Amino acid sequence: MRIVVTGGAGFIGSHLVDRLVEMGHDVAVVDNLSSGRREFVNKAAELHVRDLKDADWGVGIRGEVVFHFAANPEVRLSTTEPVVHFNENVLATFNVLEWARQTGVKTVVFASSSTVYGDAEVIPTPEEAPYKPISVYGAAKAAGEVMCATYARLYGIKCLAIRYANIVGPRLRHGVIYDFIMKLRKNPNVLEVLGDGTQRKSYLYITDAMDATIQAWQKLEEEKEPYMALNVGNLDAVRVLDIAKIVSEVLGLRPEIKLVPATEDGRGWPGDVKYMTLSISKLMKLTGWRPTMTSAEAVRKTAEDLARELWR
Ligand code: NAD
Repeated sequence: MRIVVTGGAGFIGSHLVDRLVEMGHDVAVVDNLSSGRREFVNKAAELHVRDLKDADWGVGIRGEVVFHFAANPEVRLSTTEPVVHFNENVLATFNVLEWARQTGVKTVVFASSSTVYGDAEVIPTPEEAPYKPISVYGAAKAAGEVMCATYARLYGIKCLAIRYANIVGPRLRHGVIYDFIMKLRKNPNVLEVLGDGTQRKSYLYITDAMDATIQAWQKLEEEKEPYMALNVGNLDAVRVLDIAKIVSEVLGLRPEIKLVPATEDGRGWPGDVKYMTLSISKLMKLTGWRPTMTSAEAVRKTAEDLARELWR
């Protein structure tokens, strides 16, 4: 099958492309290489260096299915630069949906996020929980989901929104584990931790996330419903202070931990969700998928992966 992956040079997108190529699909990657890297793109895939903010980004590109994984994933930046997130995450998603409508794409799989729930009242949070984002990034993902759902109902394009928890693994170039490694590379004696360190969130290793993504997509193709939103995360969570400990251990360091809370209630930055675990019962029931590693195991394995990639 001919499949287009936007953001296919990025962390999750490049692993997804590897999977789709392994499965025998014909894959086209669309990426502007803003955070993605050419060397992450599978050699068997076709790379189109284009910017999804341009309305005509899709000229000459066709596919039966599009996985829309391009985005600016920096939640912190969305607080200080909301317009960047509007353009990269709302406008770009609209341009992808318009291209899908105009070229007869059958299925769109959209990389959404746990941040659409904000400070959820129920944890683990089920898909039925309301949209209550507390960051512009989360708002942009919710906007993307609503547009996808509307294109599904109005134009008959099947759409799956995957609300990812924190996904981690090799090639990751943002988020807390990457941040800790880069800080410790600069100064191995002190580790600055954003927030009061008690933030507790769910982490899923990339191979588990890819199994879940492929199985959820295959399930959508069998369903009558044109639109589905599914959580993809782990069954448990891990505290930021424990992540600091794991990363330091993996690097063989014992840095002094310096806590830097940005808000009175100890968040890392305004818009940081403090506690996040998603309910994954729906996905487990639909597909039989289960995570094979805990959050702490996923963090440790990622710290080892990134140490190999970045620590010198
Ligand atoms: P990433 O930054 O590694 O990948 C994003 C890719 O999109 C990059 O290759 C980048 O160059 C490309 N891109 C950005 N803007 C573009 C544009 N205007 N035109 C073309 N390409 C563009 O991030 P990631 O962690 O791999 O995230 C992939 C997707 O999953 C994103 O949509 C992100 O919001 C979502 N997500 C990620 C996580 C996570 O924990 N990593 C969690 C929830 C949701």
